[in-house]
Amino acid sequence: TRTVKTSEVDVLIIGAGPAGLMACNALSKAGVNVRIVDKRPDKVMAGQADGIQPRTMEVLQSYGLVDQLLAQANQMHIAAFYNPNPVTGAIELTDRTPDVSETSTPYPFEATLHQGAIEEIFIDSIRKSGVEVSRPIAPGSIQISEIDKDSTNPDVFPVRVRFKPDFQKLWLTRSSQKVVLNHLDTLDDDGQPDTEVVHTKYVIGADGAHSWVRKSFDIEMEGEQTDFVWGVVDMVPQTDFPDIRNKSAIHSNHGSCMIIPREDDKVRLYIQLGSNEAIDATGRVDKEQMGPEKLLDVARKSMAPYTIKEPKNVDWWTIYRIGQRVAARFSVDERVFIAGDACHTHSPKAGQGMNASMNDAHNLAWKLVQVLRGWASPLLLKTYELERRKYARDLINFDKEFAKMFSGKIKATEGEEGFSHQEFMKAFQTFGGFTSGIGICYQDSVITNACHQSHARNLIIGKRLPSQTILRAADGRPIELQHLVPSDTRFKVLVFAGDIYDSAQKARVDRLGEDLAAADGFLRRYSPEGKISTAFDVLTIASKRDIVRVADLPDLLHSHWTKVFVDHKEFNGPRGGNAYANFGIDSHAGAVVIIRPDGYVGTIAPFEHVADLNGYFAEFTKQS
Ligand code: FAD
Repeated sequence: TRTVKTSEVDVLIIGAGPAGLMACNALSKAGVNVRIVDKRPDKVMAGQADGIQPRTMEVLQSYGLVDQLLAQANQMHIAAFYNPNPVTGAIELTDRTPDVSETSTPYPFEATLHQGAIEEIFIDSIRKSGVEVSRPIAPGSIQISEIDKDSTNPDVFPVRVRFKPDFQKLWLTRSSQKVVLNHLDTLDDDGQPDTEVVHTKYVIGADGAHSWVRKSFDIEMEGEQTDFVWGVVDMVPQTDFPDIRNKSAIHSNHGSCMIIPREDDKVRLYIQLGSNEAIDATGRVDKEQMGPEKLLDVARKSMAPYTIKEPKNVDWWTIYRIGQRVAARFSVDERVFIAGDACHTHSPKAGQGMNASMNDAHNLAWKLVQVLRGWASPLLLKTYELERRKYARDLINFDKEFAKMFSGKIKATEGEEGFSHQEFMKAFQTFGGFTSGIGICYQDSVITNACHQSHARNLIIGKRLPSQTILRAADGRPIELQHLVPSDTRFKVLVFAGDIYDSAQKARVDRLGEDLAAADGFLRRYSPEGKISTAFDVLTIASKRDIVRVADLPDLLHSHWTKVFVDHKEFNGPRGGNAYANFGIDSHAGAVVIIRPDGYVGTIAPFEHVADLNGYFAEFTKQS
């Protein structure tokens, strides 16, 4: 007879890749009772994704994890473009540009580090919250209770997941030398149970491109396979190619190739193959047909006259055919969600895969926290699919253009087939918002309300808060505004107070203080037990002065001396100043800006429209 262990958890995450680990980190830091399982016995050791965009670095910073990344990662600041010489056909340098053209970020470059090291950063972080990845574990069945799925009772667990029986034992026997099972939480007093049934409130299926969770609910992937087949080789090369430590896009008469410099002198080569190369009769990639040596031979042809000698060690290699697909749904009854490769796959050329996956999880996590705490209505969860599916569809459209241009031919003369280098460069720059991750703009919804955009013209509602240095009023310390909006599940209320030493403006600021402090105002209404700082952080930024006395502001606008700032250049350096101008805010009249817990601008209001802010929160927040 089988023994069955049962357990309860608020959120069960299936899959501990970048998406699952990002979600687990955000949830565990917020104190959510979360469990994460993976069918692999260990994290990724080498290869797979490796590029981190500026926006993802901002997000990692918001969780206090960017330093760990930067300590290990390579940084790509320059993009080089090589094309064939029209006479000799040999490739030559055509252009060098900044790899990231966005300047509104503290991280104007791409970082590269292999996926396993990135996963390790999260694994270390969740461990500090007492969470370990349970592995190897694979689910065998999943059901959502029809009766309980809409229940808001915190004691109800409407989703039931049964793990595959004997999965760990199978692993142990198959690779007993290698696997040390250090997560024996499925052991009961009598030894190892055959299986476990987990009762949970929410499931996040972060189980990759072949997602079991997605398939369990018959969610279709919409889109298609392309004819583009690419090989990838990670190694430490010996070469005379001058831009080997820069991101290089090579279009040659023998196909395309992309160079991505990596940590520890490693380099990744993406090599374009013929549409039938390494593909078997069923249309699947057949790795037996082509090893790293053959891939390097193809690369050598593209890179001539430059040479690549035999590498001492090939770290990892693969071959893949690009599929560009998006899942038809990202959620089932707002109880089961899919995130990451489980809901979108595309070419890795623009380094989107891991970034899009982590940002799905970042978008979902705070919403789950708010609902689990009873602060927000489950309606909030609908915005996950709304925002991220739209983004994924845009990503696929972008990827189609980008992959076509990378895999296509540069024409040497007018009239030839293909596209010009100038067209390629234009696409590279136009797509900068995508490749940096900074261009994402979430559409109108209950949490993205664009009705007063003109009061902060350049703080685009739906986009992330840009980088800006301001000075802390009390001690003149320069502070990066993004550092004031950590992913701590709270909404940030940025009060751009204007010139508080102008008497008319001071009267408006005092009035704003009263309106915000009103018993039926959003701050009091939606703060658990009336404690505003639990759910909100109110930060005041004054204009036109280098010194502001904190106590001259209404109480609510200076809850602590660390909460008041001035828009001024630092006293002995170049940083700071111009926040009002950069954000398109009138430096006299000011504005109130609501930043969502994920760092995106939620809404904006002039001082006299606090009622609109009350209305914004009333849409999705529960009264305390
Ligand atoms: P994944 O990283 O795939 O993580 C999914 C996790 O779920 C895995 O740990 C897996 O073990 C686990 N899992 C799967 N099924 C189950 C199950 N039933 N039960 C429990 N756990 C399960 N991107 C690039 O940018 N460049 C590349 O060159 C590149 N190469 C790749 C090569 C390979 C072989 C693969 C698989 C992916 C590659 N990618 C590449 C894509 C990149 O790795 C993903 O975009 C990124 O990792 C997505 O993160 P994720 O967390 O959504 O999924």
